[in-house]
Amino acid sequence: MLTAILTIGLMVGLFGLALGYAGIRFKVEGNSVVDQIDALLPQTQCRQCTYAGCRPYAEAIAQGEAPINQCPPGGQSTIVALAGLLKVEVLELNTAHGEHKEIPLVAIIAEQSCIGCTLCIQACPVDAILGAAKHMHTIIADECTGCELCLPPCPVDCIDMVPIKQSAVCPSQIPLVQYYRATRSKIRALTQARFKSDRSRTRFEFREKRLLLKKQLDEERRRIKREALQKKHPQKKVADTTVNPVQAALERVRAKKQALDVKPGSTTDLTTAQQKQIEQTDKRRHVTSRTRQGIVK
Ligand code: SF4
Ligand code: SF4
Ligand code: SF4
Repeated sequence: MLTAILTIGLMVGLFGLALGYAGIRFKVEGNSVVDQIDALLPQTQCRQCTYAGCRPYAEAIAQGEAPINQCPPGGQSTIVALAGLLKVEVLELNTAHGEHKEIPLVAIIAEQSCIGCTLCIQACPVDAILGAAKHMHTIIADECTGCELCLPPCPVDCIDMVPIKQSAVCPSQIPLVQYYRATRSKIRALTQARFKSDRSRTRFEFREKRLLLKKQLDEERRRIKREALQKKHPQKKVADTTVNPVQAALERVRAKKQALDVKPGSTTDLTTAQQKQIEQTDKRRHVTSRTRQGIVK
């Protein structure tokens, strides 16, 4: 009897161990809430939601920091899908972030006007622009998400947004045939849209990784150069070039601006005239700073 109990106990233990091992070895990664939200977003990467891309917006929604109605490219259908996933109320699209466009757009460059400044390449979140400095640029239409982020930086306004060609209207007069063909084209369009958004996500993530790697390499290169210089001239104090010079300049401007924003020590009991004077000075500083930055036309 005892032997049987011991044998069964041993077998149960062994099975337990085997199941535990299998659980770890063949673990299937479940989709996180962020992944599931991200999968419903259109992957246009346009930043109209005020986040740096679809994934950051998905993270903000998952953390309860952003409502589900800030994505104009996704429109109402995305809001409904998000509400269904998160079991929350369906909201109207917040048009403060932009209007939903029924017909998707794609960018096109008037190549004869392009001066090859590369600014659009740097702005494109999915690397859909081809070109080199001082050479004509062109857009890979299949990869363009229509985010419009390349429009503002172009100094010669040679980029336009044009509607993507829609499939032809069914010529048949028989309602059933019309219905069948319309449904078939809708399914095809949805499948293509899903395929394209998956590809845009991959391209966006790849670009983010590439930019990060480039930043790290640049920092490493500056550090090596600085150490070599320090070795060559041990008495000399070599400037810390590991800091990005553009970033450092921006920090200096920010500090200067903060210093300018310092308010007078006593701001209570001001007369109307004093208050007006402060407001006028603030306004003048603001205009001067914008003029210097070339923002005011
Ligand atoms: S498509 Fe644009 S607005 Fe919508 S989530 Fe992505 S980045 Fe935000
Ligand atoms: S080409 Fe322009 S519109 Fe198209 S994805 Fe790139 S930045 Fe967006
Ligand atoms: S930003 Fe305009 S001018 Fe510059 S490379 Fe792009 S399309 Fe050409």
